[in-house]
Amino acid sequence: MSLLEVRNLRKSYDGHVAVDGLSFEIEAGEIFGLLGPNGAGKTTTMLVIAGLLKPDAGDILFQGKSVPPGDRQFRRHLGVVPQNLAIYPDLTARENLDFFGRLYGLRGKRLRQRIADALDLAGLAPRADDAAGTFSGGMKRRLNFAVALLHEPSLLILDEPTVGVDPQSRAHLLNCVRELGAAGTGVIYASHYMEEVQAICHRAAIIDHGRLLACGPMSELLQQVTPGVSFRVPTVPDSVVDRLEHLPNVTVAVNGQELPGMDKAIRLAWKVPPSRDELRDVTRTALDVLTDHGITVSAIETQESNLEELFLRLTGHRLRD
Ligand code: ATP
Repeated sequence: MSLLEVRNLRKSYDGHVAVDGLSFEIEAGEIFGLLGPNGAGKTTTMLVIAGLLKPDAGDILFQGKSVPPGDRQFRRHLGVVPQNLAIYPDLTARENLDFFGRLYGLRGKRLRQRIADALDLAGLAPRADDAAGTFSGGMKRRLNFAVALLHEPSLLILDEPTVGVDPQSRAHLLNCVRELGAAGTGVIYASHYMEEVQAICHRAAIIDHGRLLACGPMSELLQQVTPGVSFRVPTVPDSVVDRLEHLPNVTVAVNGQELPGMDKAIRLAWKVPPSRDELRDVTRTALDVLTDHGITVSAIETQESNLEELFLRLTGHRLRD
């Protein structure tokens, strides 16, 4: 049984469709990425799951049972880290945690223990008694994150948790998410940073204009885009293209930079994901072919199979366009 199932979710704002029949499931201990550009419908989806927004249609099931909007029982299992900071700048980190911990119904020794754990996890123990308003952007985000973990939710929703944070805080947050997943928490990680989703998520959904374009385990998603290698060369005789086209399992494309003096690019793209040996052998043979023709290679660029490429293939545009 899934930890959470989202079935055919629909939501429009004044006739403008924000979420258009979205369905996905997540398991306990799974880090599930929700990837899409600004306006794709991520926040709307999160708000509906959190019971803060009523959908036009669709169901949310938690542990196999349908969850009515605003269900208190479900809320106890849920931790939400909103995109906008939800902490009080005049309170210290500890006071913020104490305040939110009480809202979650924690008291006494257990509350003190959970505050100490949350401060440790967020790496904020040394600044526990400083006002949150004096924190850096990254520290505020970490406190925002710690607040959502106080009541040990079994499902954690993170909406763009690393926007505007310094690299150190970002690495810290990503590690915390990994640890939570390893400890059995289900995590929905919404982001437009594809490298983050690729690095930490077990599975992901790619959405655009409120629709699901792809959903599956990270390895399967990445297999949909195959890597390539490009050689920058001053000239590309037909005889070279002929020989390269005989290499196994690759297609050959030549991008001409037609301005005088500029190099062209010969791109080999694998039709199916190559093994390491295939990748090395084909690259080596292609270089030999070019050398045989007396062609000097000024640069070699490799294109990895990554979510960026998959997104481009599915939508026809880059995520950050
Ligand atoms: P972002 O990361 O920029 O928040 P998102 O993927 O989370 O993007 P949503 O915020 O869910 O996307 O927005 C989806 C669409 O719905 C967008 O076109 C947005 O303009 C629209 N929208 C979102 N909230 C509202 C609202 N309260 N009223 C009207 N339209 C809205």
